[in-house]
Amino acid sequence: MKMSLYETAVSQFNKAAKVLGIPDDYAEILRRPKRSLIVEFPVQMDDGSVRVFTGFRVQHNTARGPAKGGIRYHANTNLDEVKALAFWMTWKTAVMNLPYGGAKGGIRVDPKKLSWKELERLSRRYFSEIQIIIGPQNDIPAPDVNTNSDVMAWYMDTYSMNVGYTSLGVVTGKPVDLGGSKGREEATGRGVKVCVGRACKDIGVDPSKATIVVQGFGNVGQYSALLSQKELGSRVIAVSDSKGGIFNPQGLDIKALIEHKSKYGRVDTFSDGKKISREDIFSIKADVLIPAALENSITAENANLINVKAIIEGANGPVTPEADEILRSKGVLVVPDILANAGGVTVSYFEWVQDLQAFFWKIEQIRESLEMMMNEAYTETKEIAKKYDVEMRTAAYILAINRVLYAIQKRGLYP
Ligand code: GLU
Repeated sequence: MKMSLYETAVSQFNKAAKVLGIPDDYAEILRRPKRSLIVEFPVQMDDGSVRVFTGFRVQHNTARGPAKGGIRYHANTNLDEVKALAFWMTWKTAVMNLPYGGAKGGIRVDPKKLSWKELERLSRRYFSEIQIIIGPQNDIPAPDVNTNSDVMAWYMDTYSMNVGYTSLGVVTGKPVDLGGSKGREEATGRGVKVCVGRACKDIGVDPSKATIVVQGFGNVGQYSALLSQKELGSRVIAVSDSKGGIFNPQGLDIKALIEHKSKYGRVDTFSDGKKISREDIFSIKADVLIPAALENSITAENANLINVKAIIEGANGPVTPEADEILRSKGVLVVPDILANAGGVTVSYFEWVQDLQAFFWKIEQIRESLEMMMNEAYTETKEIAKKYDVEMRTAAYILAINRVLYAIQKRGLYP
């Protein structure tokens, strides 16, 4: 029987918990989400009609600090998915040693079918509904799939209006001039870039000669491609999005491709390359593949086609456990999501710290601190992988589980 996304996530955890030999009762605390909230709320449409939407916010664990994680708008979002994503956030913040737990939220909606004003009303009402468990010391949301700094500004304002004062620290990923942080928008891509550089060294490829394929061209895909090209000198030879892909063995001009995407909403119509299908992206021969779309993209069906030496998970949960096994047997190095895409939440942490202190950092400080922390986490994960003779995913879990378990045991059980 097919596993749900949450079951998939738990199976990754179980593997590491077994290697560590942690007691069953504590493993059970670590598996289960602390709090799951489902909200059904009405929104007025532009034509005067009213529609009821479903939203979620799950706080998986708060042993190390306030819950933290993004909110996504997607037609297929459901409680199981949000539970899995919240679960991954707990391990992601712990891998990076941030003083946070893990959370995630979502609304079941295709935002592309809403007008700007409808999107604003939807966002404000949802945030107001989940506010009972949100706050700068409780749970700090951020952008995720199909949400951005505009949505974060509405969230921040809604919360602030409800409490009666301006609260900058309640969400991260806000506009830079409204309590946001410099470098937050590029942050996940910058973290992916650090991992591309490190993984290239591990597979014996010079990053400036590496070829890269990117699946998904939203915020993460765009900045991962751009920064790998600009700062590592790598050649991005193929990119895809939900509508199709574009391939150019000489290397794509990523800056121009980003402009094309923002103008036409797709990459396959870009003139300087050969049009390919969404599935073709997985069989292109390259050094590195960056899946940066949704979960379950690389499965038992297409894992055999994959012809790269390393995969850097820009998305959350892009590789299924069966595909993970196939890639492992093929000798592909997989840098797991909870490490590879942690740049976003790390700069979210910088943003929150800046908001709480009302003192803002320079871009150089943000980039330097982020790259230092990504490198540190990569090195720590690699050392654990070596020590326990496990792959990078299990190693990242071991690193994270040890930190969260320590917090739970040291704090003790209440009452
Ligand atoms: N949504 C992003 C993630 O999956 C960022 C979360 C955050 O910044 O809190 O890591």
